[in-house]
Order: sequence, then structure tokens, then C-alpha cells
Amino acid sequence: MSSATPKPQVIVFDDEASLLAALPLEAREVHFPVVIVGGGACGLSAALHLHDLGIDALVLERDLVPSGSSALSSGFIPAAGTLAQKALGLEDSPEAFARDIQDKAHGLAAPHLVSAYTQSIAKALDALSQNHGFEWDVLTHFLYPGHAQYRMHTLPQRTGQALMDQLQRACQEAQISLLTQAHVLELWVLKGSQKVMAIAYQRPDQSMEWVRMDALFLACNGFGGNAQLVQEHIPQMKDAIYAGHVGNDGSALLWGKGLQAQTGDLGAFQGHGSWAKSQGVLVTWALMMEGAIQVNQEGRRFHNETGGYSEASVEVLSQPQGVAFNVFDEALLNLGRTFPDFQALEKMGGVKRFESNEALANWIGCAPSVLQATLESLLPPVKSRDEEVSEQSPHQRTVERAFDRAFEGPLYAIEVTGALFHTQGGLEIDGTCRVQIQSQVSLPNLWAGGGAARGVSGPEVWGYLSGNGLLSAMASAFIAAQAIHAQLSSAP
Ligand SMILES: Cc1cc2nc3c(=O)[nH]c(=O)nc-3n(C[C@H](O)[C@H](O)[C@H](O)COP(=O)(O)OP(=O)(O)OC[C@H]3O[C@@H](n4cnc5c(N)ncnc54)[C@H](O)[C@@H]3O)c2cc1C
Repeated sequence: MSSATPKPQVIVFDDEASLLAALPLEAREVHFPVVIVGGGACGLSAALHLHDLGIDALVLERDLVPSGSSALSSGFIPAAGTLAQKALGLEDSPEAFARDIQDKAHGLAAPHLVSAYTQSIAKALDALSQNHGFEWDVLTHFLYPGHAQYRMHTLPQRTGQALMDQLQRACQEAQISLLTQAHVLELWVLKGSQKVMAIAYQRPDQSMEWVRMDALFLACNGFGGNAQLVQEHIPQMKDAIYAGHVGNDGSALLWGKGLQAQTGDLGAFQGHGSWAKSQGVLVTWALMMEGAIQVNQEGRRFHNETGGYSEASVEVLSQPQGVAFNVFDEALLNLGRTFPDFQALEKMGGVKRFESNEALANWIGCAPSVLQATLESLLPPVKSRDEEVSEQSPHQRTVERAFDRAFEGPLYAIEVTGALFHTQGGLEIDGTCRVQIQSQVSLPNLWAGGGAARGVSGPEVWGYLSGNGLLSAMASAFIAAQAIHAQLSSAP
């Protein structure tokens, strides 16, 4: 037995008797029906859904305070057919949502997961609202790239931190067992059946503790925090800033390897082409969707900004010095100011104001004539932007930048770079989130969700539709909870 190994690993035992014999005496009686590895949005919401089904889960989180990438995120969750949408008279359906996901991924997103997630996400959000008091707002003042309907749900504070705070509060109220500073390292597995019987986790003083379970749910996100795995699977981002949670070190993938589990879409990831370089703040892509442009250090535009913020990360990184400048006017400044991240950036001095095009060109360091030509190419809008918007369906608006228009008044600019937000590939799971070892063959009691599992973005960066990250996290939590409940209920 190796009890203090620092790397995630799988320990295989010939039979249950030898596994139990290897457990320290005091650990043999420590048992939960379900153990969840990772206390981000996926792990905590899975614990809540299990609680609603009458099942006790133990959540093990490596950090002192659960936060994960979920707390760093903007907290926007796409869902179709929720009570919140209906209250606003918004007509939407899982099928329409699934079409948008597949359109973005060129039809290459795992179909069984697209179907399962789009069918379940509304139920997941409604359950949190009805059983635990979550109050979802739907963003209706702009459309995220690729979405045909207003379906981005958020708590009133519009931050991932607020989402995590509310999840933690709900877990406390439901008296869910959450153990922090518990870094899970080992899966103890039976040879033959490959049933996970116990796991071992390390405490801050390096000591190890063990817990046995009937079902294990991996909610420990992907491998964005593991430089070696990033280099291996997404080499184009090996030098990019990683803006996600550093604790997401690929534990699930490494355990999967030890179990000979299948993996999927490991080259997929969410990047972002609008990461304020010096301040380390996400600049909302809503600016681009409403008419802002990105220019490079030469003062030239280099892509269609409405294509998607994920692939924009690669576009920006391939520009001189790997940077770009978001340029916009006062009307867009006011839109930006409705986002907490933008307000924070402004306070940090990251939003610059220029009275003339020449002053902006000097700051960027480009020839004023080149920038001037770029800005003039935005002229003239055929119609006012309001007319344009009211005549087009939301879907058309996402397809082309029909609203390019000349900027008015002083200009504003933010220097940004491309960043890696999180990985989208992971353990292959079936439609109930059970980890698979072969097509149609799943492990008996191991589930995975959120960033730990294969996502719904196809094989590469361009497949990421806005919100696929939290969609996967929140939908898989709901699906796995139902599946685990069904399995435990039918056990003799
Ligand atoms: C800046 C930024 C903005 C984003 N904005 C959005 C957005 O608006 N909408 C959207 O859909 N997506 C967004 N994303 C992506 C989104 O944050 C992730 O897809 C989502 O948070 C994943 O949730 P999760 O629960 O799977 O992982 P996490 O929230 O990262 O939780 C995983 C947890 O597991 C813990 N852990 C890891 N390994 C172990 C281990 N071995 N033992 C114990 N604990 C472990 C970690 O400490 C962590 O707390 C954004 C990402 C970033 C970086």
C-alpha cells in the first residue's frame, strides 16, 4: 500500500478482503453512500440534488474554501425551457439549444451528451430554485455568440463567486457533509469488477485518510492546471495564461488512465480572446457582440469578433506580441459598466479613454493612418443599430456583424491577450454520466461530470459555445444524482 503518494493514482486489489485488510482499522467503518471529489459548481450542486433524493453525500475539496473555476467564472449558465425563461415569455426548447451547440461544434459534439445536457439543464436550475431558493435572472440585453435565444441564466449579482456562495449556503442549510483541505489522491479498486471501493485523501499535515463508498462522482474539473497535460493535449495553449483554478490538475484524467477508461475530445478547450493582460480580468464579450472591435498592434482588425470568444483566444495569441486592443465608444462603455468584472477593471485603470484617433494610435503604438483606415471601414451603418436589431431575429444577429458602425465621441480601449480558461475534453461518459471503459461498457460505480468529463464542444477550440462549461457542470450534476439514486435504490 502506498499511502502518501503525491500523484493521483489507482490502487488495485485482488478482492474485497485484501482491500479491507489494507485499510487502517479506524477507516474501515467510515462509509458514505456517495463521495464527490471536488467542491465546485458541479460537486456542490450534485450534493444538493442527491440530498433532494434522500441520499447522503460527502464532498471532498482540496482547498480551504471551495471555489474552483466556478468562482472565477462569470457565472452565466445557458438553459432552455426554465421557469425563469417562461416567466419572461421566452420560448425555447432543449432541441433548439442542442442545435446551437452542434452548429457551433460543426456537428462534432458528443450527441448523447448534447441531448442529455440540454434535456436536463432546465430541470437542474428549476430544482435549485424550487428546493433551495436560487433566483435566476435571464440576460436579455444581448445575445451570446451562437445562441438563438436569450437563455443565459445568472444570479442577480452576475458573478461565479455569487453562484459558489449560494451553493455553499444551500449545502450548509441542507447539512451536507463537506470536508475541505482533503486532496483526493488514490482510488482503491477491485480487480475484475473495477468497482471503486474506497478513496484516500491527503490532509494539510500530509497524513492520509480513507473513506469507503457505494458510488463515486468525480467533479474535480479538467487539466488546465497541469502544464504537462496541457502541452501534451493542447500544445497551442502551452504558453498562454491559465485563468482557471490552479488546483484543477487533471486528477480525473490520471485516474481514468489507471482504470483504462476511455477519454474524449482531449484537444478541446475554452479559451478567451479578451483577458485584460495587466489586470488579469475578463473583459465581457458582450462588447464585441454589440459593436466593439479588436485591433492588433498594427491597428488592423484581424478576425470577425462575433465568431466566438473561445477561438478568439487563438486569433489574439497569433498577433504580434500575442495582444490585441478592444476598441469601443461611450455607448458600449455603458454596456460594459453593467458587468461587475468590467467595473473592477475600470477601477484598476484598465479602461483607457482617448479624445482622438491619433491619441489612441499613439497608445497602441501603430501608424495613425492605419488605425484611421480601420475605423473608417466601419462606416456607414446602413441603418441605425436599433433599427437593425429590431428587424433581425436573434439568430441572424449572431451570424454576421450587420451592425458595424462608426464610433461616436471619445474612444475607449483595453489591452487584452488570449487565455486558457478550462479544458473541454475528459473522461468518456455515457448519457447518465457513468465513466466508460469501452463503447457501451461503463464502470460499475464511477460517475464523472463538469470539466472532469468529456464536454459538448467537439474536438477543438472553435466548438465551444458560450456557457458550455457551466452547462456541463450543472447538468451532469443533476443527471448523475438521478442515476446514482436509481442504482442505489435498486441495489439488493
Ligand atoms: C474566468 C473564467 C470565466 C468563466 N465564465 C464562464 C461562464 O460565464 N459560463 C460558463 O458556462 N463557464 C464559464 N467558465 C468555465 C467554468 O468556470 C467551468 O466550466 C466550471 O466552473 C467547471 O465547474 P466544475 O465544478 O467542473 O469545476 P471547478 O469549479 O473548477 O471545481 C473543481 C473543484 O475540484 C477541486 N479538486 C480538483 N482536484 C481535486 C482532488 N484531487 N481532490 C479534491 N478536490 C479536487 C478543485 O479545487 C475545485 O474546487 C469560466 C471559466 C473561467 C476561468
